[in-house]
Amino acid sequence: MANKAIIYAIYPNNKQNEQCQKTFGCCRFVYNQMLTVQQNRHKSGEKHLSKMSANTYCNQHLKTDYPFLKEVDKFALTNAVYHLSGGYDRFFKHLGKFPKYKNKHKARKSYTTNFTNGNIDIGNNYIKLPKLGKVKAKIHRVPDDNWKIKSATVTQNRDNTYQVSVLFEYDKIVYDVPVTDTVAIGLDYKSDGLYVDSNGKTADMPHYYRKSAEKLAKSQRKLKHMIIGSNNYNKQQKRIAKIHRHIANQRKDFLHKESTAIAKQYSCVCVEDLNMKAMSNKGFGNGKATLDNGYGMFLNMLCYKLQDRGGYFIKVDKFFPSSQLCHCCGFKNSKLKDLSIRRWDCPACGTKNIDRDINAAQNIKYEGLRLLSA
Ligand SMILES: [Zn+2]
Repeated sequence: MANKAIIYAIYPNNKQNEQCQKTFGCCRFVYNQMLTVQQNRHKSGEKHLSKMSANTYCNQHLKTDYPFLKEVDKFALTNAVYHLSGGYDRFFKHLGKFPKYKNKHKARKSYTTNFTNGNIDIGNNYIKLPKLGKVKAKIHRVPDDNWKIKSATVTQNRDNTYQVSVLFEYDKIVYDVPVTDTVAIGLDYKSDGLYVDSNGKTADMPHYYRKSAEKLAKSQRKLKHMIIGSNNYNKQQKRIAKIHRHIANQRKDFLHKESTAIAKQYSCVCVEDLNMKAMSNKGFGNGKATLDNGYGMFLNMLCYKLQDRGGYFIKVDKFFPSSQLCHCCGFKNSKLKDLSIRRWDCPACGTKNIDRDINAAQNIKYEGLRLLSA
C-alpha cells in the first residue's frame, strides 16, 4: 500500500465558511480542554489517559458539558484529541516540547476528517465533505479509479483562502519484470493531434481552440466597440474569459483520459525532450497548434501517472535525430531534414514506405529503452 496526498483549492460559501470556523474553534477547544484534563490528572497523581481513553473522555464528558461540540464533524474532534496524544508521545520520547495551549489568533486554522461510507467524494468541480456538503473546488488533478480516500484536512490559509489536502491509499504495482518491448511505447510530438505513437496510433485530439475560435473572435469584435470599463465591457470580458475556460477544461479532460489510458497500458513511455516555449514561438510556424494541444501538460500528467504506478517516463535528448534514422537499421538519412518528405524508402536496408512520424516514435522508443538499460 502506498499513500499520496493531493491539495485542492476549495471555495466554501458563507454557510460552509461559518461551519469551518466553528469546526476550527471546536477542535482548538477540545485540544485545550484535554490538555487541562491531562495536566490535572498528572497533578493529582492519576494515570495519563491513552489516546483511546482520551477520546472516550471527550465523547462522554466534554460533549455532555459542551453540547455545541455535537454540531461539528465528530472525526475532526477525535483527530484533535489524537493530535494532542501525538504531542504527548513525542514529549515522552524526548522528541518534542511539552504540548502548548492553542491560541485563537496564532493557531493554524485546520481540521482533519476521516473517510467512511462515502462521506468524502471528489466531483468534477466540487469536493463533498462531512457537515459541509459539496464545496466548490478546483479539481486540477483527478485521482485514479483504484485510489481510496483515507482522510481530508481542511485548512484556512493566512490570506483567508481555503485548501483541502486529500489523502489517498492505493496498491502500488511493482514491475519486477524487466521493461520489455511490449510494455514500452514511444511518442512523437505532433502539432496537429498531440502525438503519434510507435505502434502507429495517433491521438486525434480535437481542435478545441479552433472550434471555439469563431465564437471567441465574434465576442472579441464586440468588445472592441464597447467603452472600456463600462458595465457592458466588463460583462463581455467575463463572457470571453468563460469561453477560454471552457476550451481549457475540454482540453484538460481529453489529456487526462489520454494519459491515464497510456499509463495503464504501458510501464515505460519514451518521449522527446522538447522545448515547448521555443516551439510555440511564431517563428516555428505552428505556434497556435502547439499552444492549442497542451503537449507539455500532457507530458506532466503522463510522468506522474507512470511514477505512481512504478513505471518509467523517459525523456530522450532533443538533439537525438529521431526523424532521420531508419528504425530498422539505424541508417541516418540526412535528406529527411526536409520536413515535406512524409514517406520514404530506406536506401540501406530496403524497408519500404516508412512513415516519417511513426518512424520517429519508434526511434524515440528504442533510444528510451537504451537509456533505461544503460
Ligand atoms: Zn534501414
